Amino acid sequence: MSKILIVEDEKNLARFIELELQHENYETTVANDGRAGLELALNEEWDAILLDLMLPHLNGMEVCRRIRQVKQTPIIMITARDSVIDRVSGLDHGADDYIVKPFAIEELLARLRSLLRRVETAEQSAKQTTLEYRDLVVEKESRIVRRGEEVIDLTKREYELLLTLMENVNIVLTREVLLNKVWGYETEVETNVVDVYVRYLRNKIDHDDEESYIQTVRGTGYVMRT
Ligand code: CA
Repeated sequence: MSKILIVEDEKNLARFIELELQHENYETTVANDGRAGLELALNEEWDAILLDLMLPHLNGMEVCRRIRQVKQTPIIMITARDSVIDRVSGLDHGADDYIVKPFAIEELLARLRSLLRRVETAEQSAKQTTLEYRDLVVEKESRIVRRGEEVIDLTKREYELLLTLMENVNIVLTREVLLNKVWGYETEVETNVVDVYVRYLRNKIDHDDEESYIQTVRGTGYVMRT
């Protein structure tokens, strides 16, 4: 049973979403403000978080940003305003998807299912011994990286960074998350070391005449998208 955290200050809407999700066999918890939502998000494990944008105490964008500093829990942002700016900045802050109020509950359920499926696919690929992204292949046991026929020589860090990105295709990874995964929690290095290594990696895996395989998500981090 998937556990979903609903962070929404409109109590009637929160209750409505909760009942619909429970009807679909999800386990739910509701938080009515940003601070309570952040605390629950950080202290418990959730399969996904539905996060309203306009919240008392701490807005949804800030809650999202703070969750992403330490966790990759899938987040769907609920926004009342259908402006491009909100959508873009929501995704920039690390949300995986967004839905605009008022929405049909079927649409929310469909997006939630699709997000949970994406995460499951990513988790499965983490278990595979060979990872593929377009014509890029990583053989985990031999640590061989190839693009097409060409074998690419990577340093240990570059390899770990590429592996992390390829194990999380379509999931935006913040600099903090990458730093923790590739360099470890005890590290004292600055987050901009991630940018430096992404540049090294791009120089080795990308072809000059094409868009980079590693996309920059402005202000947040990096992703390899299918
Ligand atoms: Ca609200």
